[in-house]
Order: sequence, then structure tokens, then C-alpha cells
Amino acid sequence: MADEIGAVVAAAVAEVESDRTRLMDVIQAVQRRVGHIPQEAIRRVAEALGIHKVEVEDMVSFYAYLDREPKGRFRIRLARTPVSLMNGAAAVAKAFETATGARLGTTSPDGAFTLEWTADLGMADQEPSALINGTVVTALTPGDAPAIVAALRESHLSGARPILPDQQGIALPRAKVASNLVQSGPVVFRQSARGAGLRAALTASPDEVGQAVTKARLRGRGGAGFPTGLKWKLCRQSIGDEHYVVCNADEGEPGTFKDRVLLTEIADAVFEGMTIAGYALGARHGLLYLRGEYVYLFRTLQDVLQRRHELGLLGRNICGHEGFDFDIRIQLGAGAYICGEESALIESLEGKRGAPRDRPPFPTERGYRHQPTAVDNVETFACVTRILEKGADWFKGFGTRESSGTKLLSVSGDCPHPGVYEVPFGITVNQLLDLVGSPDAAFVQVGGPSGQCVAPKDYGRRIAFEDLSTGGSIIVFGQQRDVLEVARLFTEFFVEESCGWCVPCRVGTTLMKNSLEKILGNRGTLGDVRQLEALAGTVTRMSRCGLGQTAANPILTTMRNFPQAWEARLQPEAFLPRVTLGEALAEATRVQGRAPVPEEEGA
Ligand code: SF4
Repeated sequence: MADEIGAVVAAAVAEVESDRTRLMDVIQAVQRRVGHIPQEAIRRVAEALGIHKVEVEDMVSFYAYLDREPKGRFRIRLARTPVSLMNGAAAVAKAFETATGARLGTTSPDGAFTLEWTADLGMADQEPSALINGTVVTALTPGDAPAIVAALRESHLSGARPILPDQQGIALPRAKVASNLVQSGPVVFRQSARGAGLRAALTASPDEVGQAVTKARLRGRGGAGFPTGLKWKLCRQSIGDEHYVVCNADEGEPGTFKDRVLLTEIADAVFEGMTIAGYALGARHGLLYLRGEYVYLFRTLQDVLQRRHELGLLGRNICGHEGFDFDIRIQLGAGAYICGEESALIESLEGKRGAPRDRPPFPTERGYRHQPTAVDNVETFACVTRILEKGADWFKGFGTRESSGTKLLSVSGDCPHPGVYEVPFGITVNQLLDLVGSPDAAFVQVGGPSGQCVAPKDYGRRIAFEDLSTGGSIIVFGQQRDVLEVARLFTEFFVEESCGWCVPCRVGTTLMKNSLEKILGNRGTLGDVRQLEALAGTVTRMSRCGLGQTAANPILTTMRNFPQAWEARLQPEAFLPRVTLGEALAEATRVQGRAPVPEEEGA
């Protein structure tokens, strides 16, 4: 075994030319071939890359899709989100428990299956979904579990668990990701010739390209809305040995899947936008950070890059433009929501745990490899391509003054036509609900868990940076849904995804969840709500990065917009304990095989 591990490590390290910043690739190669990351592999990787083994352990322990211990040959990860649960994920999970013999969170006795919940897989339009090794299965019903498990058993895979689906060679029922582009618009998804935007850019100077993006008033599509032209200007002005262009394709916000659709439908436009950025910034290297859940897109995207090379749209002297060299590498993530934060993403790109950096300095000054770096969203790069194709004036002819162009919205939940809609900025929530066929929605979550829970009284508000801002997630909830239960699931999400670096976020999110659960269990009082509100304010103010600073939003926005839902749960008593005696002793009595504490004793 030690020899085999040694060979795997040696090959992986050679593949990345002993570059320490490619530690993620080395570790993923070990995971693919060995099935987990044993201590021997950690020792050998550290030795081969000339780093301390603590650095390797630090990284391995951080990412959800890297295993220190052996797991089942097949890892079945079921998405646990409000939408998946609304669509029956709990029943699907039960069916998988029966079919595999593994309880959730455990491995089956025969060692074949590990079954577990995971956070969002980017499939909110086709839930319930699961990631099985590297294959995504969607639109699951309980009836699918036996057939999927039988197909896996018949595959006779040995100990190694390849991650890439095409290495796996198993035809799984439901292994289909529907693109679900429901409405294409006049900008991002317009019909267009490959290379047109890039060729237009190369007729201008790099400065003029940057000015066109500024003039178009393009703002980052990831949610924050920072002006892209200004970011590029700051990056270009920063002094460094190299400049880098990074595409953030780590969309992990529950309910968001528009980058998945973009990379499926028009990856060329995304890579082209990155190449245009490379030209404008004087960069020779681009990196696309692809979330681990989208591993199934990896080969397709590599093929697109290959084709662009063959057409002279990447590589040396691009489009015959002497001296303009640019190339793009795809870095696969390993299941960490926080890596969507740009500085955490850069840390991950450098082969470290995805912990956000202190700022300043900003990535435009000191980013990837401590060099000036522009990190932009997938949709932003697609917009750049269209701006160069059609002009800044044309682009800002769509949308509003503060939010030019169109926006891709990932719509899911209680609506008859979930999928991606390209709409002009400025559309009201009411108009959007009519468009997607859900005019009677009880509430709408705009911008995912870190966004806002919008009540019907506010359906006249507009989706735009100056009003309701969103990276793209729109989750529609019908009259039968419980707004506080949704807030609880979102808070649970933040507990899971906190990187743990700072106390207000690490501890505060858990305290918020506990408090919310007490209130949902009809044991909360007005005092609990006041305490929770104060705690939520502290977490918002004191957390170090955007995750913690927005983790209280599900609680705070529902408190603001749905006070009646909170009031309905409250008890009149001045104080009620969070747990009953019976609940506190439940685990102990189960282990000891004793009778549970009677209700009246536990009250
Ligand atoms: Fe990590 Fe949360 Fe602190 Fe951000 S706020 S650094 S995610 S612990």
C-alpha cells in the first residue's frame, strides 16, 4: 500500500511540476486514486513539495470533499436545502438508507456506501438531487434509490473511487443535469459568433477596453455589485511581476445555479471575457475556480479551452496580435462555500484552506501569488464579451441607471417553471412572479440565505443593485410554507459553512440556531426573541467576512417582514429552558437502554 501511495503522490507532484500552490490538485489526485488521504500520503506529499505536513493536514481537514478516513466506495451526498426538502428529499434519503443499509452520516456495513447530507449542489431547479462520487443525479424520487444502488453495486468498482464521472463508466439512472434555460434575453444569451468580442477588443488599446467596460457601467454579477471597470483600473495600476485574471465559478449560495447554466450553454463567452480582461490588464494567466459540485462540467470546459486554442483564441499571439499571450487553467474546488468569497478563493487557489484574508490589501493589489489580481464572476465575464461585441452604449441601454444590462436569475421553489431567466434589471418582484407562474407566492427569498426574505407588501420592489440586490438566487415559497422553518434551515447552513476563524461567526451562528430551534419548538418567549435579535446584531457587526456579516439575515429579515410569524410561536412565560430534561437525557437513556424520562418530569 505504501508503495502504491508513493507512486500516486510522485505522479501527482510531477504533473504539477512540484508547484506547492497546486497542492489541491495533488491531494485530489490522491483522493481519486486511493479513496481517501491516508497519513502516509500526507507525509509523502509534504516531503515531495518541501512543505510541513501540518500544511497538508490543514488543507485536507478543511474541505468537505476530502476524506482523512476511508469511506464507502460510493459517497452518496444528498442536497439538504429548503427546496430539496420541499420536494421530498427526506423521503428520498430514507429510501437510500433502506437500499444501501447505511444510516445517514454513516457507511454501510459492507463498506460499499457512505450516505450523508450535503449543502446545496447547485441543482435547486431539479431537486431532490445527489452527488454520487462525481456524478450528479437529479429529480429523485424514493422509487429511484433501489435502481441507483443496484447500478452502483453492479459496477464492480474496486477500492479506488474516481471523481470524474467519465472515468467511472457507470450509467446511473437520473444522471442528468437539465440546463433549464427558460428565458434567454437580448444580452447575455444573444446569438453571437465565437471570438467576435475578443477581435473587437484587440482593435482597441488595453486602456480603451477598460474604458468601454467602465462606460457600460458594468457591475459585478456575484452580488456585491462593485464596478468592474474600476476594479480593472485598480488592478492594472498595481505593480507586480504578473497580473492575474480569476473567474469565480464557485456559486454556492443555495438557490443559485445560473453559472452552471452559463458554463453549460456559453462557456465560450465566459472564457472570452476572461481573455479580454487579460488583454485589458496586461495579464498572461487566467484561472477559473470551478466548484467541486460541478466536477461533471470539468471535461467539457477543458474541451472548450482546447478548441479555443486550436482557433487561436488562446495561447500565444492571440488572433495574430503580436505579444498578446494568455492562457486559462481550471482549478477544481473541493466543497467549501466560503471559497466563493474572493480572498478565500485565492487562498484555495494557492493550495491552502479557504480562509478569508484580512483586507486591505485588496486582491487588486495583492491577490493570487501576492500579485495584482482581478476576481470576477462568471456572468460578469460573459457581459464583458457582449460589451466588446456590441458597445458600451448598447449595453447600458438595458436595465436602470445604477444597474445596466440584464440579470440572470436562478428561479426555484414553488413555481411551475424553475430555471434561469434573463431579465432586464429593474423588474419588480411582482412582474417576476407573474413571469415564472407564481403570482400568489407567500414570500420570496432574494439573494439566497445571505439575502432578504421579501413579503408580499414589498413585491413592488425592483431587482437591481439600488433596491433588491441579488447574485441570482430567487426562491419562491407558496402559502403552505413556514417562513421560520426556512430561516432555521438557512441558519443551519451558515453553521455548517462557517470557516471557524472568528468567534462571532463560529459560535454566534450556532447560538442563533439553538435559539431559533427553541422558538420553533414553541418554547420561546419575547425575551428569547429580543436576545436573539441582539445576538444577530453582534454576529453581523463583529464577524470578519461577508459570510458572518450576512449569516443573521434570515433571522433579521423575517423578524422585520414577518413579525406575526414570530409572535405566533411565543409563549407568555417569562422564562422557559431551551431543552427539557427528557431531551437532555435522551441520548444517555438510549445508550443505556433505559426508559425515557416521563413527560411531566422533563417539563
Ligand atoms: Fe470564517 Fe465566518 Fe469569520 Fe468569515 S465570518 S472568517 S466565514 S468564521
